[in-house]
Amino acid sequence: MPTGRLGGTLVSIELVKYPDVFLRKVSKDVAFPLDDKTKRLITWMTRAMYQHNGIGLAAVQVGYDVRMFTMDCTRYQGKPQVFINPTIVKNSEETITDFEGCLSAPGKQGEVKRHIRITLNYKDEEGEEHTKTFYNLEARCIQHEMDHLEGKLCIDYEKGEYSRDKHKSQTMVESDFRAKSNS
Ligand SMILES: [Zn+2]
Repeated sequence: MPTGRLGGTLVSIELVKYPDVFLRKVSKDVAFPLDDKTKRLITWMTRAMYQHNGIGLAAVQVGYDVRMFTMDCTRYQGKPQVFINPTIVKNSEETITDFEGCLSAPGKQGEVKRHIRITLNYKDEEGEEHTKTFYNLEARCIQHEMDHLEGKLCIDYEKGEYSRDKHKSQTMVESDFRAKSNS
């Protein structure tokens, strides 16, 4: 497990990993205004995403089944965004099939068909609503994170399509995972 110097502390954030059954939870809506615990969770998620060199991370991956995810596709770790209670309101007909990995399934890949362009409605930390269109890598990342909110994983896909059978045939275990608090 890698460690990183973040916010002045050296801390290693543990992720929920496949085949933990927690990753199959359908996440719940976040209530506004955000409470302190949720604000801390957002900071925690951003740290975890950067620490594990991910471009996106859903709350369920750090042990909280709430509908939010962080994303930063810039690769220089300087532009974290948070998306709360997101819904995809529009998507392009054009799709592209490509291999995807997931921080919660190290060493595994899924071949996943995604829309090239999507329009997302979401709230920011202040509770302000946004509707924004995303393309290419960001669009793929968002669709991947949206799957996490529904308990789906990229490794459930078979030749581009979501496979219920593959999902069901996967071994489910309960781990004693517990999110570590940074407070
Ligand atoms: Zn993932």
